[in-house]
Amino acid sequence: MIQSTLSTDLITSDILPVLSKSKVARRTYLDKRVTKSQRETKRTRSQGARARLQTKEHLVGLARELHEDELADKIDRCHSRLSVLTCGRHIARIIPNFTCEFRLCPDCGRRRSRKLQTKYLSLMKAFVLHNRVTPVHLVLTQTHRKESRKESAARIRNSFTKLTRRSFWKQYFKGGTWSLEFTKDKNGLHHTHLHIIGFRRKFFDIELLRDEWLAVTGDSHVLHLKPILDLAAGLQEVVKYVSKPLDIRRFGAGDLKEFLGLKNMRMFGTFGEFRDFCKGFEPSDDDAMSELESLSRDLVEGCACPQCSAPLFDLRLSKSELPQFYEQIESSPPGKVRRSSH
Ligand SMILES: [Zn+2]
Ligand SMILES: [Zn+2]
Repeated sequence: MIQSTLSTDLITSDILPVLSKSKVARRTYLDKRVTKSQRETKRTRSQGARARLQTKEHLVGLARELHEDELADKIDRCHSRLSVLTCGRHIARIIPNFTCEFRLCPDCGRRRSRKLQTKYLSLMKAFVLHNRVTPVHLVLTQTHRKESRKESAARIRNSFTKLTRRSFWKQYFKGGTWSLEFTKDKNGLHHTHLHIIGFRRKFFDIELLRDEWLAVTGDSHVLHLKPILDLAAGLQEVVKYVSKPLDIRRFGAGDLKEFLGLKNMRMFGTFGEFRDFCKGFEPSDDDAMSELESLSRDLVEGCACPQCSAPLFDLRLSKSELPQFYEQIESSPPGKVRRSSH
């Protein structure tokens, strides 16, 4: 049963050319002091798969260090064997044997963030159309203090709650979504950012918002605001922190231990009028699923590849073979179908 839902979750990013990444921010208020954190250069699929593999190996190692063997075994088993439905040049479906659902697992995170994107994209489109508001991406930061990750997250969320209660905010914003991003600097201080997709009612001077943020935080006015021209790309950018809220490559056993103590911390949510809107709006299955996704859901061995019509075959791979398979696909010249050696 798990498999049938997974297969559709995994499809979109594997089969679709990466969604528009055009960064044509016309009016950008860029504050240079916003730390450059996890914003990274675009990776190929093989590089991404390899990085996820390494992240998981690192996590398994840390869990073993903490004698969390059950967790280590789960992460180790997650996506360890894969059934890949492919024509040799494209991947139509990937079905993993098992998913661990651990919050820091990059494979499970990807699936979760894709689910959120699917759900909220249709809601956001409907909300924007209905209310004639402009979506903006707002990044709020706070000063660094010696505090735990939990305290840091609570502090920025409290400040944000205060901000949304102020008349300035109500005048200019009609709700939105938030997600948390954590980083840690070399001095061990937590940098917590709040990524907001806000629905702006009308244009305002950024300096006013800066003053408002300073008023609620007491010591921080550093923020970054840019209009979102493409909702799908904007949502993808914000939701990616749900799949990787922190930089696990720089994680130690102590960080994992701290994270395990945060079990119930929310990383994503809605607020304001958008929140109410979401409650009353249940997207239908058709809304929630992309055309390609619904097309691919029922694919089995022998079906035609949705991209090139060549017959699909079922390739069984271990997790360590997946990056290599992506590499093979990436290096295949267009038109030439290369059947895998497996
Ligand atoms: Zn997992
Ligand atoms: Zn194909």
